[in-house]
Formats: sequence, C-alpha cells, structure tokens
Amino acid sequence: MTFELPDLLYDYDALEPHIDALTMEIHYSKHHNGYTNNLNAAIEANGLGGKTIGELLSKHNDIAAVRNNGGGWWNHCQFWEAMSADGGGAPSGDLAAAIDSSFGSFDEFKSIFHKAAMTRFGSGWAWLGVKDGGLCVCSSPNQDNPLMDGFCNPILGLDVWEHAYYKKYGPGRATYIDAWWEVVDWVEVSRRFSNCQ
Ligand code: MN
Repeated sequence: MTFELPDLLYDYDALEPHIDALTMEIHYSKHHNGYTNNLNAAIEANGLGGKTIGELLSKHNDIAAVRNNGGGWWNHCQFWEAMSADGGGAPSGDLAAAIDSSFGSFDEFKSIFHKAAMTRFGSGWAWLGVKDGGLCVCSSPNQDNPLMDGFCNPILGLDVWEHAYYKKYGPGRATYIDAWWEVVDWVEVSRRFSNCQ
C-alpha cells in the first residue's frame, strides 16, 4: 500500500486569522508531504507493503522511520480534518454528554487539554481519546500517538510542534492553543466519537 498526501478540504487561508496561510502551506505541502514520502520509503525499505496504517503504527513502531513518518502521516491527516472555518464553539449531543461525564464540563475539559498541550516538553501532540467507555486526555512526544501503545482511541489531536505555530505566534504556544479552539470542527470530532461507540 502506498500512502498519499490527502487533499486539504479548505484553502490555506481558510482558517485565518487563527491559523495563518503561510503556516498552513508549509505545514501541509512540506512537513506532511515529507512524512508521506518518507513513510512510503520506509515501507519499501522494510518490506512492509500491504499493511494498514493501524498495523504499521501498532505492530511495526520499533522501526524508527515507520514510527516517525507513519505517526507524522496519520497525525496530520486527522489534524487537517478536525479543523474548519465553520469550527469553534462547543460540541453537542453524545460527545458533549461524554465530555461532561468524564471531565465535569466543557470548560474543565479545555483546561485539562490545554495543560496537557502546554506541558508536553519539546515537540509532540495533545490528544482527546476514548478509553474504557469514557474520555481521556493525554499527550505524546514527537510524532507518536496513542494508536502505537493502544492507550486510548484518539478522536482529536493538537500539533504542538513549533512548526505548527511559530511563524505567527513565536514561542506563544498558549496563544496558539487558544486560537485553535476557534477552528476545531466538533461535527467531525463527534463523528469520530460515534465510530468508537
Ligand atoms: Mn506538524
């Protein structure tokens, strides 16, 4: 199986002013494209053709090139799809109820997620995931994700690598996180949550 860079569902400037167009262009066309090409090269080099991304991440993550580039490919696919110019606000329905049940309130969830994203030292990701019938927040280093160790089933991930925010926000990761909430597509996250039930 050859993996492809997925089409973006919106223009580079669609998420302005929260996510700037230049960051989107470089992040998608350089970083994500690089992970995609390097994943395919790692698959070829290690004789892993025909595996699904789930198999590669959970069973072959002992190979650094598969772990880093397979994670980079999957993490960014879910990241683009979970943002929208029509995003922001708060979830509704079953996901909203699950957030209230697991964290107390949507605001409390955002606070916990924000802390996880802020305290991930260096490069990595913060995650909302389904675990043991409820929801959890966790984070991972580099391009790792919870599919690698099965800690949870991730339904929303935030990229906290500096390449995701430095051009617009400089070292201001907290400001970037605040801006990102304004573009989170809760319809997409709800769809993912439903698929886990
Ligand atoms: Mn990234």
